[in-house]
Amino acid sequence: MALKLISVSARYPIDEAHIVLTKVSITVRDSGCLAVVGPSGSGKSTLGRIMNGLHRPSEGTVELDNLDIHSMPSIAEARRRVGLLMQQPDNQLFGMTVGEDIRFGPSQAGIDLDTCVSRMERAMLQVGLDIDSFAARSPFSLSGGERRRVALAGLLAMQPRHLVLDEPVAGLDPAGRAKIEAVIAETGRHIGVVLLTADLPLALRLADHVILLDAGHVEYDGAPAGAVADRALLSRLRLLAPVEADVLDALRQRGAPLEPLEDMRPATVLETIAAAVLAPDSRKVATKGRSH
Ligand code: ADP
Ligand code: MG
Repeated sequence: MALKLISVSARYPIDEAHIVLTKVSITVRDSGCLAVVGPSGSGKSTLGRIMNGLHRPSEGTVELDNLDIHSMPSIAEARRRVGLLMQQPDNQLFGMTVGEDIRFGPSQAGIDLDTCVSRMERAMLQVGLDIDSFAARSPFSLSGGERRRVALAGLLAMQPRHLVLDEPVAGLDPAGRAKIEAVIAETGRHIGVVLLTADLPLALRLADHVILLDAGHVEYDGAPAGAVADRALLSRLRLLAPVEADVLDALRQRGAPLEPLEDMRPATVLETIAAAVLAPDSRKVATKGRSH
């Protein structure tokens, strides 16, 4: 019961010689958050469109529950099961009102009106959009963060098995980011979420598994802490480590007896740094990561 990319390569007709993804294999589990982190142009958005069947890989297969999605009778069914929040969410908003927009997907899937309305209300609740204030407004009268949440609610109303989010917090203010991050954390408890981003600190806050992507190649695939261990790799990928990871490194370089942490979530790292700074005898500092 998973979404699997098996040795997927991708190119676009306009430039057949340019291989955008090279033999990428990824398994997206049924819950949790997988972050695919890479600089601009590394192939994240292409990967997202492949995961939800919008783009067909030139080689390799995309499987949902062990079935090749491109051999299914209807690709629409696969696309319903793997929701994609596009990098430009305005591309997926077209209802006259927020409520209509969120109900649109389920109604197109032949779901009865009452169920569509209850799914819409639930989805609005999930993304923190007050029904009375927002349901009757035009999506285009909203802020960027609110529009993203409307698009996200439209996807959640489809009750997908997986959700792929392409740069979901880019360009948002801190409050807008925090709301979307909370939705991602909560959604990942129930379905498999894929976060596509160039923001490594964001990935470390949310993901339980990280893939680093560069020029269409997987450069790292493993636990979040390992994704910040190789600074030369991060520098080559033009990715910024979280500042607390830099502080941890600086302390270690100056002789603080800190072992590598297994858990790189900011709260854990900051706690470890505070303990190291405040400990009367720094050798007694507990440095083990918090276990999940
Ligand atoms: P990212 O999301 O990591 O920035 P993209 O998947 O958007 O990466 O792009 C990866 C590569 O594919 C880039 O070189 C980009 O120019 C190319 N590319 C993306 N979309 C298209 C398209 N529709 N047609 C042709 N080339 C594309
Ligand atoms: Mg992109």
